[in-house]
Amino acid sequence: MSDMPVRAVLFDMDGVLFDSMPAHAKCWVEACRKFGLDACEQDTYMNEGRTAASTIDLFTTAQWGRHVTPREVEDIYAEKCRLFNQWPEAPKMPGAEAVLEEVRRAGLTIAVVTGSGQESLLARLERQYSGYFRPELIVSSRDCQRGKPYPDPYLLGLSRAGIRAEEAIVVENAPLGVQAARAAGFHTIAVNTGPLPDSALIRAGANRLYPSMQALAEDIGRLLAAG
Ligand code: MG
Repeated sequence: MSDMPVRAVLFDMDGVLFDSMPAHAKCWVEACRKFGLDACEQDTYMNEGRTAASTIDLFTTAQWGRHVTPREVEDIYAEKCRLFNQWPEAPKMPGAEAVLEEVRRAGLTIAVVTGSGQESLLARLERQYSGYFRPELIVSSRDCQRGKPYPDPYLLGLSRAGIRAEEAIVVENAPLGVQAARAAGFHTIAVNTGPLPDSALIRAGANRLYPSMQALAEDIGRLLAAG
């Protein structure tokens, strides 16, 4: 970690604060198939963090030989959100609140930087993690044209928190999220809460890797003290 004191921790949301990726993956696959696009759950995990438009465009470019239209994005994403909202509510990620509590106890700023625009989850952040997040420090897909793996969402999180990248760390579960955070200059902790191999997160540039948020919770106090 850098020699600068850590002043903030920026958290990704899906797969970090909520155990929501299994439902996202299934709903993406089902929504795409309804519109004639073939997708598998592994694709969803590999593309986690992208905007909906960017993800769907990858599929149409490969399968239909053309870019997706804004109307198609709107329709497919609306269907995906509709399906997602029918699923049982995704649980809070075990260990996440303990991590947040350690960060708060250390007096650091907490922000969320997510590629999601899923209203049902964004609303739950403030409801179910009461008192941890200030609305202006939640960056979602609505705030950035270019999503992860571009650094834009993390750079916006930085400017909203009024800090420099060397003064913050990021907690991410997705390869493209790690890539985005590293491109923005952050020390990045990867937490492998999904089915991808650790190597996918390491190759993306993760500085540290934990197998779960519980494992990070056990270590974060020491990390923050050392930083
Ligand atoms: Mg994630």
